[in-house]
Amino acid sequence: MFELSEELTLVRDTARDFAEHELIPRATKHDREAHIEPEVLAKIGELGFWGLTIPEQFGGAGLGNLALSIVLEELNRGCAATGVTVSVHNSLLCSPINKWGTEEQKQTWLPKLASGECLGAYALTEPGSGSDAAAMVTRATKDGDSYVINGTKIWVTTGSMAGLVLVYVRTNPDVPKAKGISAFLVPAGTPGMKVGKKEMKCGIRGSPAVELEFDGCRVPAKNMLGQLDRGFPIAMDTLDGGRIGIAAQSVGIAQACLEEAIKYAKVRVQFGKPIAHFQAIQHKIADMQTKIDAARMLVHKAAWLRDANEPCGRQAAEAKLFASQTANFCADECLQIHGGAGYTDHFIAERLFRDARITEIYEGATDIQRLVIARAVLA
Ligand SMILES: Cc1cc2nc3c(=O)[nH]c(=O)nc-3n(C[C@H](O)[C@H](O)[C@H](O)COP(=O)(O)OP(=O)(O)OC[C@H]3O[C@@H](n4cnc5c(N)ncnc54)[C@H](O)[C@@H]3O)c2cc1C
Repeated sequence: MFELSEELTLVRDTARDFAEHELIPRATKHDREAHIEPEVLAKIGELGFWGLTIPEQFGGAGLGNLALSIVLEELNRGCAATGVTVSVHNSLLCSPINKWGTEEQKQTWLPKLASGECLGAYALTEPGSGSDAAAMVTRATKDGDSYVINGTKIWVTTGSMAGLVLVYVRTNPDVPKAKGISAFLVPAGTPGMKVGKKEMKCGIRGSPAVELEFDGCRVPAKNMLGQLDRGFPIAMDTLDGGRIGIAAQSVGIAQACLEEAIKYAKVRVQFGKPIAHFQAIQHKIADMQTKIDAARMLVHKAAWLRDANEPCGRQAAEAKLFASQTANFCADECLQIHGGAGYTDHFIAERLFRDARITEIYEGATDIQRLVIARAVLA
């Protein structure tokens, strides 16, 4: 666990090289123009990162969550908007299709998802159901061989670029709320599914978060992922994997903050010497490095457990809780070390500060991670 295998070292170095040469130079542009350049998405496909966890028989790399978290850390060190796109695609769409999909669903979708020809999104949240996801009201009603979906999903990451969306809907209103939910694979362009408002966000601006409106959207019954009314456990298990991805994103952002802080502290001269010579600055650097090391180990442990098919809900929540707090701690210290310059767009510290903030909110806010951990520990 403390030393990467030769294979994982190669995967990490490939992702690091891509981040250095393709993402870091573009991250500010992605942020200012609120989009990810298409050539970046194409290169991610060439490197095989869209299909990292998809089995080789479906065109993927056949690697696990540990490999994914290592890649995600590197990509997010370069550009968090790109990083979350890869995370959502792999963890929240490819992974549940691979785990619960029928042979036909896998044959139809996994090769396209592995190549990046089709990007993936995950639509759980609604205006009235965020942390309490099971309170969703979007409905799917059976009509012959199809289901007809009506309702609204919000903040769907990649929703406007996705070729396939995993949509969670209520199929039975007469049972306790988590027991009447099913999951459907809805291809882009299905009549009745419309991309609505795109949010203006504080950070990760290159990653679109959009509303998806469903108005009489008819999908074949064979597009159901898993069993009728058994979709909520799929959503929750999928989020365990997703949280490891966001924890890895957090470590990548934190690492970028540390590197920027060190760079600036070595060249900014005050009182006749670089500020890196002051012990107060050194303590900040020491705390950042220590928290990053600890966060990375939590991420790797949770990913390793998931790869071993061991229960990892608590460990994924611990990794997300600690790593997202670390990202925000490091972003704050990085900006502080830059002084006034950090509050301007002369340096990337201000973007990192904005990008870090979301890690404590999506895929379960910090309070929800604590709730998951406490429940497991007290049980
Ligand atoms: C940029 C962005 C991208 C997103 N991408 C997606 C996506 O791709 N797909 C998707 O389905 N969703 C997505 N989301 C939604 C995201 O997962 C939710 O925002 C998140 O789960 C929190 O829900 P909420 O915003 O409704 O907050 P609320 O649930 O309203 O919570 C508000 C506050 O109350 C706290 N709180 C709530 N319940 C409790 C409790 N029981 N105990 C203690 N504190 C509590 C929360 O921690 C939070 O601080 C995205 C959101 C954003 C902002």
